[in-house]
Amino acid sequence: SEIATMMDIPVTKIIGACMSLGMMVTMNQRLDAETLTIVAEEFDHTVEFVSAEVEDAIVEEEDSAEDLEARAPIITVMGHVDHGKTSLLDYIRKANVIAGESGGITQHIGAYGVQLESGQKIAFLDTPGHEAFTAMRARGAQVTDLVIIVVAADDDVMPQTKEAISHAQAAGVPIVFAINKVDRPAANPDKIKEQLAAMNLLVEDWGGKIQSHDISAKTGQGISELLEKVLLEAEMLDLKANPNKRAVGTVVEAYLDKGRGFVSTILVQEGTLTIGDYILAGKNSGKVKAMFNERGNAMEKAGPSTPVSILGLDGAPQAGDRFHVFEDEREAKQIASKRSQLQREQSVRTQKHITLDEIGRRIALGDFKELNIILKGDVDGSVEALTDSFQKLSTDEIQVNILHKGVGAITESDVLLASASEAIIIGFNVRPAGNARMIADKEEIDIRTYSIIYDAINDLRDAMEGMLSPEM
Ligand code: GDP
Repeated sequence: SEIATMMDIPVTKIIGACMSLGMMVTMNQRLDAETLTIVAEEFDHTVEFVSAEVEDAIVEEEDSAEDLEARAPIITVMGHVDHGKTSLLDYIRKANVIAGESGGITQHIGAYGVQLESGQKIAFLDTPGHEAFTAMRARGAQVTDLVIIVVAADDDVMPQTKEAISHAQAAGVPIVFAINKVDRPAANPDKIKEQLAAMNLLVEDWGGKIQSHDISAKTGQGISELLEKVLLEAEMLDLKANPNKRAVGTVVEAYLDKGRGFVSTILVQEGTLTIGDYILAGKNSGKVKAMFNERGNAMEKAGPSTPVSILGLDGAPQAGDRFHVFEDEREAKQIASKRSQLQREQSVRTQKHITLDEIGRRIALGDFKELNIILKGDVDGSVEALTDSFQKLSTDEIQVNILHKGVGAITESDVLLASASEAIIIGFNVRPAGNARMIADKEEIDIRTYSIIYDAINDLRDAMEGMLSPEM
């Protein structure tokens, strides 16, 4: 009925057209994209599809240069398990109880802000690990300005350290290394720096440009110097935002609290959020009834780079959802319900990721310039050999990028990175582990596994030449 109205044609004719396509439909049925296109053509109309986001018509206010003010950097801490991410975040949190703040440190709300003695501020995302970082990025939210990668000085640069580095690099976010646990007798920070150098990551005291500092998350040694280096690095990014407009930002986490209702931690990125503002976050909306910082103190306002937990939303939005403030409550509610409806209808995701079969077509269309690959293999030798061969397939038209490579099974984290960075995954003598296959199916990520190097190279070459026969 909607398309009939749009084309000004009796609805019975549309139903007839569908029947001739072998589809029995009713007036209120929603048609898929292909059917819509065919039916419209039947009546000499053309269909143009716009994405759900465009349909929302949320217009973000433009800032002029004079509206912008410096804002605090937003940091994520990543690194191998047990290298000290949580300890570092906890230490910074505890060490930074601002004088006069009551009660000291309290809840974990997913993010917190600190103020250094110099008065400078830093916001930390308190969800250590690259999974959270990349899951947010896969939802289109790039929140982090800078990444601290923790490496234990009594251990080595480990697989997850390498993953964290790849994830930060794929996001184009600068890295500062924290060489941790230097209080331990077995600590050897130089060994770590050497291992980083072997990966082409030269830290400052090795004559490179990457900042690093030796710390102990246990004793606190070196942590204020580390944060100074973080601020120095952040200064070069010239981070700015306009505090004098309606707030815009990203959801960090949300949950249902028995006594208080839905509690959402959000990070204000631009503008200022004020109690009483009506906000829309993902598929949820509501009036901000109360706002708290990580110390549980009530707040009236929150400006750029400020994490706050808020009460008042009618549900729990997802981490990575954007939020906007609306003057018109009705409009926000309408968009929220439209989004819910769209999600229900779209049993298949609209955003389809790149597959090997599709590459040739996309290259021919001319809108595809970079082929991103995540490469996992059983031994270092085959991974290096494939990296070399893949990179040599680059042409003037298309650049082959190895976003991440490593030894071991294909993990969830690889799939998330592929989803966030539009990559395909190639496994050599390895398979997807744990939930990786399931998530890849859901996210529609192409995973190809090979056991003959020659086959892998041939497939990629054929795909790039648009000659790959569809996978059986
Ligand atoms: P995460 O998995 O990276 O979050 O690591 P944790 O912060 O949980 O730390 C793992 C273990 O290392 C814990 O037992 C910590 O107490 C210990 N640890 C972390 N940092 C240091 C440090 O600087 N010195 C020492 N001696 N132990 C540390």
